[in-house]
Amino acid sequence: MGKAARVRDTHSQGPLPACVEGFTRLQHPVTQIIDGSTLAGAADSQAAIEQPDEDVLATPAVVDDTSQPPTSAFATFGLCRELLDGLAAIGFEEPSPIQKAAIPELMLGRDLVGQAQTGTGKTAAFGLPLLERLEPGLRTPQVLVLTPTRELAMQVAEAFNSYASSMKGVKVLPIYGGADFRDQIQHLRRGVQIVVGTPGRVMDHMRQGTLDLSGLRSLVLDEADEMLRMGFIDDVQWVLEQLPAERQVVLFSATMPNEIRRISQKYLNDPAEVTIRQKAADGRRIRQRHLVVNGPQKLEALERVLEAEGSEGVIIFARTKAITLTVAESLEQHGYDVAVLNGDVPQNQRERTIERLRDGRVNVLVATDVAARGLDVDRIGLVINYDIPFDGEAYVHRIGRTGRAGRNGEAILFLTPRERRFLGGLERAVNQPIEAMEVPGNASINQHRLDRLREKLTLALQQPAGNPEERALLGEILQRVAQEQSCSPDQLALAALELSLGGKPLLLQGEERWGQSRPGAPSARDRDRDRSERRPFQDRHSERSEDGPEENMERFRIEVGWRDRVKPGNIVGAIANESGLTGRSIGKIRIFDAHSTVDLPKGMPDDVFADLRRLRVMNKELQISRLGS
Ligand code: AMP
Repeated sequence: MGKAARVRDTHSQGPLPACVEGFTRLQHPVTQIIDGSTLAGAADSQAAIEQPDEDVLATPAVVDDTSQPPTSAFATFGLCRELLDGLAAIGFEEPSPIQKAAIPELMLGRDLVGQAQTGTGKTAAFGLPLLERLEPGLRTPQVLVLTPTRELAMQVAEAFNSYASSMKGVKVLPIYGGADFRDQIQHLRRGVQIVVGTPGRVMDHMRQGTLDLSGLRSLVLDEADEMLRMGFIDDVQWVLEQLPAERQVVLFSATMPNEIRRISQKYLNDPAEVTIRQKAADGRRIRQRHLVVNGPQKLEALERVLEAEGSEGVIIFARTKAITLTVAESLEQHGYDVAVLNGDVPQNQRERTIERLRDGRVNVLVATDVAARGLDVDRIGLVINYDIPFDGEAYVHRIGRTGRAGRNGEAILFLTPRERRFLGGLERAVNQPIEAMEVPGNASINQHRLDRLREKLTLALQQPAGNPEERALLGEILQRVAQEQSCSPDQLALAALELSLGGKPLLLQGEERWGQSRPGAPSARDRDRDRSERRPFQDRHSERSEDGPEENMERFRIEVGWRDRVKPGNIVGAIANESGLTGRSIGKIRIFDAHSTVDLPKGMPDDVFADLRRLRVMNKELQISRLGS
C-alpha cells in the first residue's frame, strides 16, 4: 500500500501529532501513563488530553487526499481513507486514550507494551496501525494475534474485519481449537494476511506447515496475563522463538505479573510503554454491592434480586456447569428469557447465544467464567456473581461485562456467611468498597412490580403493538361491554388490566422480612453441594488422593508428566481451550513422572476426543486415552 509507506516515511522524518498530556513527543518516547481507562471514560478524560500542538499539526503527517477535510480525529494518525471510512461506518469518532497513545507508536513499527483492560479500545489501538501497515497485495500472513480464548479470537477477528470493511483484499482468519482443522487449512491456503488464534491451534498449524510465518511482520499478544493464567505461556514463547528476527511485537495485558514482564524484556525491542491507569471515576460507573445469603437460599435470593433489580441485560456468573443449568432452569420456570453459556455449549451455539443476548431475545445469561470471558455486549446492565469468583482479577473481569459503551452498570455479589472473609480482597482488587445490601423484601419487589406495570401500560398506550384490525375489534368489544354493563371507562380499564395479569397475584403477600421464615433446614444434599462449591479450585487440582473420579467424571491418561515440566495450569488451559470446557469443570489432575491423569466430565464427544489426542502441551502430544481402556 503506497499510502501506508508514505505515511510511515512522513512519520519517521518529522514530528508527530502530540496527543497525550505530559507526553513529550521524542523519537524514543518515555513510558506513558494515562488516566481514564474505559471508552466511557474517554469523553470525561478529554480534559486530560491536550489538543495537538499547532506547530506539530502544521506538518501534515496525514492523508493524501487534501481536497477532503479529515473525517474524524483518527485522521490525525495518518490512517488511510479506507480505514477512516471503515471507522466512520462503525461510528468511531474520537480515539480512546489507549488509541491516542498507542497508534502513533505502532504506526512507526515500534514494539509496544500496553497495560490496559478490555473495554479500553485496545483492539483498535493495535488493529488500526497494523492494518495501515499491511500489504494487502501479499497474500501471506503478516499479522498474528494470539488470544487466550476462542471467544476473544473471534471478537478480535470481527473487529479487524469491521475496521477494514472498506479496504480491498484484506483477509482475516480466526483459528482456534474445537473448530474444523481442514476448513482452517483451506482458508490458509487461499491466502490470509491476518491470523487471530489461540496458542495451541496456532502451534499445530505452524508445526504441520499450514501456517507459514516467515513473512510475519507483527505479533500481538492480547490479554497476555490471561494466557499466563491459562498455562499458555510456554506455547507463546515457542511461537515467539519461531518468528523472523525482524518483527514488531505488541503485548497487551490487564495486569503485569513478573512472567509477563520477563517475556516483554526478553522478546520486545525497546518497547514503547503505555499504561491506562484506572480512574476512580471509571470504577464508580459500576455500582457494586454484596449480599450475604445461606447456600440453600441462594436461588430464591437470586429470583428476588432479579425481580427487584433486574435490568435489560443480566449476566449471572456461576462456578460450575451444573450450577449454570440449575439456575437457568429455575429462572426459566419463573418466566425469564434465559440462556446458558458454559464450556459444554458447542461453538456455533455460543455464537448464536451471544447474538440473541445482544439483540434482546435473551435477557438473562447464566455463564461460567471461561465461557463468558471477553464477552462484549453493550446492553448488560447487571452482573450477578451468584458464586464468588476465585480471585480479585476474575471479579474485575466479571463486573467488566457491564458498564460498557458509556452506560452505567450494576454488580451484585452473593456471599455465603463463610465467604464474607473474601470481601476485603475483592474490595482491594477494585480499590473501592463493595456496599452491603439486603435480599430484597416483599415491599421492594412489590414496588418494582407496580412500577413495571405502570411502565408497560404507558408503553402500550404510546406504542400500540397489535395490528390495527385487531385493535378495532378490541375497541368494539370494550364499547359493547361498557354499554351492556353501563360501566365507566375507569372501571373498564381496571377490569382489562386485571385480566392482563392472567390470574396471577400482582403482589407478594405475607412476611416482609425475607429469609427469616424460610422453611426447613438445608437438606444433606444442599449441604454437600455447598461444601463442594466452596472447595477452592487449587485444592481440587492438587489433591493427591487415590480415589476414583467423582460421579459424572471420567478419568483420562495423558502422555505428559513431571519430566516434561508440565504444571496443572498447562493441562487445564490447553484442554479448556481445545474442548470448550471451563477450567473449573476440569477435575482432579495427578502428575506422574512420564504421564498424568485428568478427570473430565463424562460424555466427551468423539470429535473433541480426537482433537485432544493431537493436542500438544509442553511440546508433546497428549495422546489422551480413557483410563482402563
Ligand atoms: P476493546 O477494549 O477493544 O474490547 O473495545 C471495547 C468496545 O469499545 C468495543 O465494543 C469497541 O468496538 C468499542 N470502541 C473501541 N474504540 C472505540 C472508539 N474510538 N469509539 C467508540 N467505540 C470504540
